[in-house]
Amino acid sequence: MSKNYYIETWGCQMNELDSERLSGNLKLRGYQRVEDESQADLILLNTCSVRDKAEQKVYSRLGRLRELKKEKELKIGVCGCVAQQEGEQILERAPWVDFVMGPGNVGHLDAVLEHGTRVAIEFPEDRNYDIVAVDRTSATKAWVTIIEGCNKNCTFCIVPTTRGREQSREFESVLDEVRAAVATGRVEIELLGQTVNAYRCPKSGRDFGALLSAVAEIPGVVRLRFTTSHPAEVNESMIVAMRDHENISRYLHLPVQSGSSRILRRMKRLYTREKYLETIARIREAIPEIHFSTDIIVGFPGETEEEFQETLSLIEEVRYGSLFAFKYSPRPGTPSLRIGEPLDDEIASERLQRLFDLHERMKKEKLESYRGRVVPVLYEGPSRNDPAMLSGRTDDYWVVNFHGDPATPLGSILGVRIDSAQHHTLRGEAVA
Ligand code: SAM
Repeated sequence: MSKNYYIETWGCQMNELDSERLSGNLKLRGYQRVEDESQADLILLNTCSVRDKAEQKVYSRLGRLRELKKEKELKIGVCGCVAQQEGEQILERAPWVDFVMGPGNVGHLDAVLEHGTRVAIEFPEDRNYDIVAVDRTSATKAWVTIIEGCNKNCTFCIVPTTRGREQSREFESVLDEVRAAVATGRVEIELLGQTVNAYRCPKSGRDFGALLSAVAEIPGVVRLRFTTSHPAEVNESMIVAMRDHENISRYLHLPVQSGSSRILRRMKRLYTREKYLETIARIREAIPEIHFSTDIIVGFPGETEEEFQETLSLIEEVRYGSLFAFKYSPRPGTPSLRIGEPLDDEIASERLQRLFDLHERMKKEKLESYRGRVVPVLYEGPSRNDPAMLSGRTDDYWVVNFHGDPATPLGSILGVRIDSAQHHTLRGEAVA
């Protein structure tokens, strides 16, 4: 009997990694992956609920899959954050769905399939990390979860509901997974967690800085990254680990969400504008070449023009290389629903545009500053837009498309002379 599965992934890197783990588990059970859903015997939707009308999107996708299920024998599983958020309701509204499984149960897909479980949304103590059963999509890079869940309870955020309380993995188990990934040629490691720098080994109490250093010192780890850091969890040990290990990327994603201390308090972000800027200054002092990126929410309930201006001035002050900004999106059950209504959509869109315009100018200047320089680039494969070119990333995580020898082994570090800056990327030529 054929066993084909199709998996669709929405959302963040954590969801991407969850899909790699689900996929690895299925392959060990003899399933084969197909890219055409009509050929599948099992369809998994790995969903995200952090913004927008995520639930509606999933129900409308399920409506289309219902038609497919009429034509053939097919199992449908809804996984990820919408599964956790909606739980049993999914089975009520879409009874053709076979099971609903939250992010805490990714390591237990076997049991769900074997026992015919219909709803698996508890957060088990043992997350069952099978470090072999990860079907990694990149040949050069491996994502490794170090901490699950989040205890921060930002008032806008659904993550504590969908991913549960913080739970760090054991130090040694993380190192084992990194070693296993390196042994298969993954030279770039990205440590993952919703609040990655809140990591504490449950056995020894060692913190994130200690883990960063230990991973960076594993032979074969050419580049080390991590996401997402919470500004209130940045400490000396993390900064020192980054400063002292050249293979830790000179890139830090540090979501600020707003430049106004009043809004930050209402978001329950646990820092003020001043404290955030102090943290940025401390990191820059230790690692002057660092590329900062951030997330911003525009139009949080009650955000005034003046408060929005504070966000613009913070962006100018920090001079982020990269920036991700979103309109506030009310999420079910989050405390921000009690704070007030979202801003008028037209005003929020107009603010978002002003913010992007400001950042575009800054990013252009930053990218232009690379022109003429020779920078080390980790080669990842052919360029997506022009397969005749090679593609990779700098130490500070800019994408570089360049002319070079296509026989270069994946994962090599090459010197590339930058000769132009595109919209989001750099272009150049490999040099001897
Ligand atoms: N845990 C990380 C943190 O606290 O910074 C990131 C979580 S989330 C997956 C990524 C980004 O989505 C957040 O940094 C935030 O900017 C945005 N986001 C989360 N909830 C949102 C909401 N209700 N409306 C709009 N944007 C939201």
